[in-house]
Amino acid sequence: MAMKCALSEELPVDEYLITEEPYYVPVGNEVEIFIAAYRNKLPVNLKGPTGCGKTRFMEYMAWKLQRPLITIACHEDLTATDLVGRFLIKGDNVEWSDGPLTKAVKSGAICYLDEVVEARKDTIVVIHPLTDDRRIIPIDKLGVIVKAPDEFMLSVSYNPGYQSIVKDMKQSTRQRFVAVEFDYPPADLEKQIVAHETHVDEQTAARLVEIGQSIRNFKHHGLEEGVSTRLLIYAGKLIQEGIEAKEACRIAMSQPITDNQDLQKSIDEIIAAIM
Ligand code: ADP
Repeated sequence: MAMKCALSEELPVDEYLITEEPYYVPVGNEVEIFIAAYRNKLPVNLKGPTGCGKTRFMEYMAWKLQRPLITIACHEDLTATDLVGRFLIKGDNVEWSDGPLTKAVKSGAICYLDEVVEARKDTIVVIHPLTDDRRIIPIDKLGVIVKAPDEFMLSVSYNPGYQSIVKDMKQSTRQRFVAVEFDYPPADLEKQIVAHETHVDEQTAARLVEIGQSIRNFKHHGLEEGVSTRLLIYAGKLIQEGIEAKEACRIAMSQPITDNQDLQKSIDEIIAAIM
């Protein structure tokens, strides 16, 4: 197979460049770790519950490293062809169209595969040659191999809370990434984030975070996952629009996270006591 070079200039990836600094509050040394991984061409796995800041972190890092960010939301119908590319019929012609992964490789972008375990295992193997020293993507349908430029980086996100035998990352995939652990930000930072994102006053932000933390303690009582920072922000936004605070919390917290009425009632009691 021919070895094809990266064609960075030819690709219109400007739309994937993040020009304004995204608001991101570092929780630990994740920024430094990510930069060290990037410099060493190590793929990174962001492990953590949904809505705790992984996507925002990726946006921030792409901005900081001045690389385009191509995000792929993984799902079970995603095929290797969707990632790599396909021939499309255009009028009388058949044209090749790069998939997002190929586009990211060629343009030296950061490719972020969100919720990677949702993709089928046979789909995920296409990333394997990109995650070791070879840093290549074979495009079988074109009979070429594209080598990633130094700037290319692969990262994935993974929620260990959803772990099951059917949906788990194979060791052969897992062990290709360094793993950075994410969790909901500590209370003082989460308060700052909620206030910034929603413009609620400090006291309301503090109460939302307190409710969030109390619900998270409920995890052991049957909740699959605690309430995310994202949901606290939703509640704050509804409050800012004039929705009564307790109702906003019910709509953004007790209703979305569970269908179990007993649990909802217990959560509503927490909301009523704090808000
Ligand atoms: P995930 O990708 O983990 O599901 P997101 O990155 O979408 O979660 O986070 C949800 C929201 O929470 C973000 O849109 C952002 O408003 C906020 N957020 C969470 N953590 C942070 C943080 N450390 N700094 C700034 N915003 C944050």
